[in-house]
Amino acid sequence: MRDDRHHVFWASTVDSQGQRRSLVNRRSADVAIVGAGFTGLWSAYYLKTLAPHLEIAVIEAERVGHGASGRNGGWVVGNLAGLERYIGGLPMAQRKACCRLVADNVDEIGRTLAREGIEADFHKGGAIYAAARYPDQIAIQQDYLAHLHELGHDEANCYWLDADQLAGKVRFRNGYGGIHHRQVATVNPLKMVTGLAATVERLGVTIYERSPATSMVKGEVSTHEGAIEAPVIVCATEGYARDFHDFRRHVIPVQSLVIATEPLSASTWQAIGMAERPAFCDASRLINYGHRSADGRLVFGARGTYRFGAKPKADHAISDADIAMRRDLLTDLFPVLEGVRITHGWGGSLGLSRSFRPHAILDRRSGIATAGGYAGEGVAASHLFGRTLADMILERDTDIARMPWAFPHAAHARLIKHWEPEPLRWLAAQTITYCYAGEEALMKRQRHAPLLKRALTKTNDFFASIIE
Ligand SMILES: Cc1cc2nc3c(=O)[nH]c(=O)nc-3n(C[C@H](O)[C@H](O)[C@H](O)COP(=O)(O)OP(=O)(O)OC[C@H]3O[C@@H](n4cnc5c(N)ncnc54)[C@H](O)[C@@H]3O)c2cc1C
Repeated sequence: MRDDRHHVFWASTVDSQGQRRSLVNRRSADVAIVGAGFTGLWSAYYLKTLAPHLEIAVIEAERVGHGASGRNGGWVVGNLAGLERYIGGLPMAQRKACCRLVADNVDEIGRTLAREGIEADFHKGGAIYAAARYPDQIAIQQDYLAHLHELGHDEANCYWLDADQLAGKVRFRNGYGGIHHRQVATVNPLKMVTGLAATVERLGVTIYERSPATSMVKGEVSTHEGAIEAPVIVCATEGYARDFHDFRRHVIPVQSLVIATEPLSASTWQAIGMAERPAFCDASRLINYGHRSADGRLVFGARGTYRFGAKPKADHAISDADIAMRRDLLTDLFPVLEGVRITHGWGGSLGLSRSFRPHAILDRRSGIATAGGYAGEGVAASHLFGRTLADMILERDTDIARMPWAFPHAAHARLIKHWEPEPLRWLAAQTITYCYAGEEALMKRQRHAPLLKRALTKTNDFFASIIE
C-alpha cells in the first residue's frame, strides 16, 4: 500500500498527466526555454500571447511541475522577498508604485487563471502574520508592519489586528495580535502549473519532458539526444539548476518541507476559525506558514534547511522526524489538532540568490535570459518575472520592464556574485539556524536573560540584514 505520508498532497488532487515526448532531434525556435515550472511557463505564456507568431519550445528535465512549482506551500504573496534591497533608497512615490505593482500581481494572477479557465483553487483570503506563541512576537510583527508601510505598501492593504480582531479571523492558542495583509491568495500549485502547461500548449508552445539540458551556449541549448537552435534562450531552473551552466553558482537550492493534515471536521474548523480561508504564519525567523486548503485540510510548512554541497531536492520524501517536528509546531499553534492525522509530508528546493533578491536578466550579447532567486516567495513572483522577461525579450517599453529587478542589458555573472565555496556556506547556514533557534527558544520560554537575549537578537538582526 502506498504510504502517502511521504508524498506531495497536491499530486493526489490532479489526474496523472500523460507523458510528453522528449527532444530527440535538432530543431530551431525563436525562443527556447529550459525548465517547465512557473517561471518558464509564464514566460512562454506572455511571449506567446504578446507575439503569437513566435515559435517557442520548452525543455524540462523531468515532468512539468517537477521542481518547486509543483510542490510548494501555495501562498501567492503580494510582495517580493528582498524588495527593500531594490527600492529602499528610492523616493516614496517610486516605492509605492513598485509595491502597488507587486500587490496587484496577485489579482492579475487570479484574472489570468479565470480568463484561461485554469482551475487551480485560487482563493484570495489575505494573510495573517500573527503573534501567536509568545508575547515578544507582538513587537516583531509591529516592526514588520512598520517596515511594510515604510517600504511603500498601502496602509489600507496591511494593518494591525488586536487580539479580538485576530480571533475573529483565526483562533490560535495564544493569539496576541497580528497583521492582516489583504494582497495574498492561495492556490493549489500543481493544478496551476499543469493547467498553465496545457494552456501554453493550446496556444502553440511545444513542451518536451525528460529532456535535461546538458549545455547552453549562444544560440543553442542541447540535450543528450537533441538540440534547439534559438536566438533567445531562457534559463528558468531556479533552485533546480543542474551542472549544465554556471547559474547554480549564483542561485543555490535551500530545502523547504511541508505537511498536510487529513480534512478537518466542521467542529475543528469551528474551533480554529479561518472562515475566510486566509493564509497564516507566526513571527519566526525560522519561518512557518500555512493555509486552509480547498478541501478543508491544513497545509503547513516550516523551517528551511541547507544541504551541504547545495544539492537540489529531487525526491519528495521527508523523514518521520521532519513530519513530527512540523506537526508539533502546528499543534502548538492550534491545540485542537492534537490527534489529527498528518496524511502527507514532502519537500523541495527553492532558489536563493547570492544578492538575496530576485532578478530578471536578459544578456543581449549571448541571447541568454534568466529569472529567479525568489527565496521562497516565488509563486507570485515567477508570474511577474515571467512577464518581465517577455517584455524585455520583446523590447516592450512597459512599467514592468522598467522595474528595478529588470535588467535588459546585463550578464548574470556580473550582476549576481558567486556563492562562497563549501564548507563556508554550510557553516554559515548552520550558525545562522542555531542562533535563530536559540533566540526563539529564549523568547518562547520567556526566560529572564536580558543580556543573552539582547546579544542574540542583535546578532540575528545582523544576519537578517545580510540574508533577508
Ligand atoms: C516546499 C516549498 C514550499 C514553497 N512554498 C512557497 C509558497 O508558499 N509561496 C511562494 O511564493 N513560494 C513558495 N516556494 C517557492 C516557489 O515554489 C518557487 O520559488 C517557484 O515555484 C520557482 O518556480 P520556477 O519555475 O522558477 O522553478 P521550479 O519550479 O523549481 O522549476 C525549475 C524547473 O527546471 C527544471 N530543470 C532544472 N535543470 C534543468 C535542465 N538542465 N534541463 C531542463 N530542465 C531543468 C526542473 O526539473 C524544474 O522543473 C516554495 C518552495 C518549496 C520547495
